[in-house]
Amino acid sequence: MSDCIFCKIANHEIPSTVVYEDDVVIAFDDLNPQAPVHTLVVPKAHYENIVDGVPAETLAAMANAVAEVARAKGLDQGFRVITNTGAAAGQTVMHLHWHVLGGRDLGEGLV
Ligand code: 5GP
Ligand code: ZN
Repeated sequence: MSDCIFCKIANHEIPSTVVYEDDVVIAFDDLNPQAPVHTLVVPKAHYENIVDGVPAETLAAMANAVAEVARAKGLDQGFRVITNTGAAAGQTVMHLHWHVLGGRDLGEGLV
């Protein structure tokens, strides 16, 4: 998608702070962090959200990237993974992404 910001980040057309990258996935720090660690795990191919026919291999690569981010960021005390799906859920960038949040006690609000 030519005007999609996360496609541009995945293609390195827009700079980001990359935490992990492989052929399928890129993980980079969120521009507006909601926790001391707030990294986004994004498939390089464009899918609108998690119910957009995402191949199992891509989901597996994203899960592996979460583990790589947790290791790189030292999230051994725990972390949270969130994927907003649709505008009513707060999705603002319509390219599938998983938020990896940690680095502080996240408490029990919103699961
Ligand atoms: P959503 O609200 O769609 O679940 O999350 C989108 C996230 O993308 C937000 O947390 C927002 O801060 C982040 N974001 C939006 N534009 C950019 C950008 O250009 N670079 C980075 N690194 N993060 C962005
Ligand atoms: Zn995209």
